[in-house]
Amino acid sequence: MTTKESPSQAAPEFPFGATGETWLSILESEGLADGQPAYVTSPLKEPKEVYPPEPGIDAADFELQPRGLPPERRKKALDAMATYLINKRDHMLGYQFNQDTDGAQLDLSRFLDCHVNNMGDPFDHGGYKPNTRAAERAVLDYYAALWKGKWPHNPKDPESYWGYMISMGSTEANLYAMWNARDYLAGKALLKPKTKDDSLHFVQAAPPKDNPNALIPIAFYSQDTHYSFGKAMRVLGIENFYAAAKNRYPNDDCPLGGEWPTEVPSKPSSKKGLDDGPGEIDIDKLVPLVSFFVEKGHPILISLNFGSTFKGAHDDVELVCKHLLPIFDKKGLVERELEIIKGKPEVRRGFWIHVDGALGAGYGPFMRMASEKPEVFGWTPEAELPAFDFGLKVHAKKLGKDIDMVSSISMSGHKWPGAPWPCGVYMTKVKYQLAPPAEVQVIGAKDTTFAGSRNGFSPLVMWDHLAQFSYKDQVERIRVAQEMAQYLERRLKELKAPVSLNVARTPGSLSVRFRRPNARICAKWSLSSVGQNVHAFAMPSTTREKIDELIFDLQASDAFTITKKPPIVELEEILAAVEAVELAPGAISWGAVAFTGRGME
Ligand SMILES: *Cc1c(COP(=O)(O)O)cnc(C)c1O
Repeated sequence: MTTKESPSQAAPEFPFGATGETWLSILESEGLADGQPAYVTSPLKEPKEVYPPEPGIDAADFELQPRGLPPERRKKALDAMATYLINKRDHMLGYQFNQDTDGAQLDLSRFLDCHVNNMGDPFDHGGYKPNTRAAERAVLDYYAALWKGKWPHNPKDPESYWGYMISMGSTEANLYAMWNARDYLAGKALLKPKTKDDSLHFVQAAPPKDNPNALIPIAFYSQDTHYSFGKAMRVLGIENFYAAAKNRYPNDDCPLGGEWPTEVPSKPSSKKGLDDGPGEIDIDKLVPLVSFFVEKGHPILISLNFGSTFKGAHDDVELVCKHLLPIFDKKGLVERELEIIKGKPEVRRGFWIHVDGALGAGYGPFMRMASEKPEVFGWTPEAELPAFDFGLKVHAKKLGKDIDMVSSISMSGHKWPGAPWPCGVYMTKVKYQLAPPAEVQVIGAKDTTFAGSRNGFSPLVMWDHLAQFSYKDQVERIRVAQEMAQYLERRLKELKAPVSLNVARTPGSLSVRFRRPNARICAKWSLSSVGQNVHAFAMPSTTREKIDELIFDLQASDAFTITKKPPIVELEEILAAVEAVELAPGAISWGAVAFTGRGME
């Protein structure tokens, strides 16, 4: 017996997709419904009836048929999508994705006629020649300069920067950073041991006899951190401090008192009774948590936010480093020796500080320039952003020298400066790379990036943007965005509504939070929510006119009446619907995973 269905049993009679014919009649017209077992499965329902509707789009227009679609149908669908996208673009306030895609002037669309692919290391020649590595390297150099890296890239110089342009957004850069950090801290290496085969091996040092924890890194990040971190921990099998505390040290008390938090707490609100703090990591909580694991002999992996997802907050990277370096220094984590190659101990530090600058690493350097040189730029930002880049150094007393603190930085190109699709930059230093390393005995491995094929258009789009603007123009762009954020905050505070709007904005942030309006307004402006609040982000594409129109919409009598259940499913609702269970003896919790909120919906 075959498990294939025959088409006559399966192909349904309802009209399918744009042409309104049944699936069976389409198959018949293609000579594929011949009474034989089916070559393909048939739809059980009209997909349009099953999937979530999107006002402005007729899903049937997009349903693909066995014979493709006639040109006029294709055109209709694409025209409808273009109309939809342009309308949504013109009313975008909810996400930190810049909608100005300056590309139109020099017509980047002509590059769509080539298959462009930057697979492999950006600093190699690359076997696949239709690539844009020249533009990619220029973009990387541009950010290396802004982030105080040593450039141009030199694989022989441990202090030189290395990086690449990611194909996803910062999620990829964060994943790569955590991967690199985990292997670096765990004493792993790619090298060619003296074995019969002539290949590179992925090897790991033995932990020193007096410290079995020396190669087990523990991760720390705040409760305002992007959900890509919870995911990275799972993908990479890294223990965050909560998992490690629960599973390795069940008899120890949390140094903060009470239950162990699942993530590092963020700063509390300065107003009593409000849980809406500024969104920055609480350094007073981070320090004792890190100290606990340093005392246990673990290497430390920290990710800090520079422009957090919901509140747009900037962790004080500089202050965190100043607090933590003495702790690392005291325990010998600043320069520790690992023996991977017999008789050739290697010095590697026992901590890694990653800066998730998905949004803020793009404009941060320009805000800092303006703060430092108001006479050149004619603007003093309301908040002075802390140092967050490769130039950040702290003096280690025990070692008697200045230590550079930041090991890696992520940035999303589609957030700031803005690109028409997800892209971004991952950057570190040569000395932290596992492959290809600075040492010559460890050769070759050119497969240094996360993906194989990499997007080759993104470097062109980024390059074209950066080529259009001077540093002064870039300062002006962030100045205007900051002004728009202040304007939106002011207009919301002045708005008379039947309920309190809980308007809040962390100084220096582009995000303005306020009470969630009705579903119609949320959909019109793509407002993203956490609990009862939404945020709007001021970006270079945000204008006074858009803000005025939003404020106008918010003055409608039903603006804040949530009549029926909003389309956004609340975390509390999901959690309430999931039955709480007791773990079996020996089953362990690896920590909390954000699956809603934090700008996800
Ligand atoms: C958006 C964001 C990310 C993820 O970036 P994608 O480009 O969406 O992958 C990571 N971290 C922070 C702080 C973000 O805001």
